[in-house]
Amino acid sequence: MTANEAQREPVDNRDIYDITFIGAGPVALYGMYYAGLRLTRFKAIDPLEETGGALTALYPEKYIYDVGGFPKITAKELAQHLHEQATQYPHTLCLGERVESLERGDDGILSITTQAGVHFSRTVIICAGLGAFTPRKLELPDVERLDGHGIYYAVRRKADFAGRRVLIVGGGDSAFDYSMMLEPVAKSITHIHRNSFFSAHEDSIRKVQASTVEMRFPFWEVKAIHGDDHVTGATIHQTKTGEEIDLEIDAIIFNLGWLTSLGPIVDWGLTLDGNAIAVDRRMRTNIEGVYAAGDICTYDGKLKLISLGFGEVAIAVNNAKNYVDPRAKVAPGHSTDKHEIALKKASRKTKQNQPKELAVPPTKH
Ligand SMILES: Cc1cc2nc3c(=O)[nH]c(=O)nc-3n(C[C@H](O)[C@H](O)[C@H](O)COP(=O)(O)OP(=O)(O)OC[C@H]3O[C@@H](n4cnc5c(N)ncnc54)[C@H](O)[C@@H]3O)c2cc1C
Repeated sequence: MTANEAQREPVDNRDIYDITFIGAGPVALYGMYYAGLRLTRFKAIDPLEETGGALTALYPEKYIYDVGGFPKITAKELAQHLHEQATQYPHTLCLGERVESLERGDDGILSITTQAGVHFSRTVIICAGLGAFTPRKLELPDVERLDGHGIYYAVRRKADFAGRRVLIVGGGDSAFDYSMMLEPVAKSITHIHRNSFFSAHEDSIRKVQASTVEMRFPFWEVKAIHGDDHVTGATIHQTKTGEEIDLEIDAIIFNLGWLTSLGPIVDWGLTLDGNAIAVDRRMRTNIEGVYAAGDICTYDGKLKLISLGFGEVAIAVNNAKNYVDPRAKVAPGHSTDKHEIALKKASRKTKQNQPKELAVPPTKH
């Protein structure tokens, strides 16, 4: 009997899952689908109240153009498709819980502690994205005061900007995507950027430049924000020439990047590389049975893209499956062959003894 087989013996009355995903963002959702296809018993834990991670929390109405199969799709819609795909197999979703600690016991079982209790699993796939993320803010006196009163760091609802005069700040993809997205609904858009180059996709830049958006570039910055209870204007200036303009606006959207922090993850004994977890080509971390995928993981050549995260989590799930059951192949075959069979088997198992959609409270301390 191998060490892994020993772990599959029922050692006690703990409710031990095969795979637990930490996070329920796009990458974990795709991993859940894959875990179902491989007939594992899996759960996902996330502090947010809905699945989708950054897609639903940060930019639900923004269009995504670079996910295979969808020429153009809003983040919210992509998250909905992923949720639907993820939840067609028996699963457990624990929302509103943040994982605080992860420990591997002497018997190889992983204890995953949240504020609600302890979850047990043979393997864990960490898909915690950037951990906790907060927007980078401009150090101007009125920024904090007017936060939420005309100052935005993400667009959650396009309708909030309908008929309004909007100032968009930034030269990256988010700034250009917001310009394209709001141009049809806003009364006017001024878009400024402080550098001499953009980091957005060339096609997005071309589209915005050809639209009614008023671009001010290079070296334009916000100098002051005006308004008592709500933003009513801003002074912008060209830092090289000193030219200044007072704009009457109703909203400013800053896109200055995000400050990220791994939070409790730094204390789990994982090998970190900067703000990310180092993984090998099988998405394994330095802790046996613990894998990482998506924005949280890093390796030579890593790109933080949803499409890449899908591939990484498929690798992680297939290796986790083989870890739990060494007789199972790492290479799974194709879903065109496996999908229907897996669904039938999963539904037979559910009828026999598996809980359905489980809102099972974790074991309390
Ligand atoms: C404004 C913006 C626009 C973007 N546009 C694109 C685009 O067009 N195309 C593209 O490919 N990518 C884009 N990205 C990047 C893309 O959103 C990420 O690559 C993707 O969300 C990564 O998915 P993930 O599941 O790894 O992480 P996330 O989406 O960040 O999800 C991680 C989840 O883990 C949870 N979590 C964190 N810590 C814990 C913990 N301790 N316990 C339990 N759960 C935890 C979080 O609550 C979150 O739900 C964009 C990002 C931003 C910010």
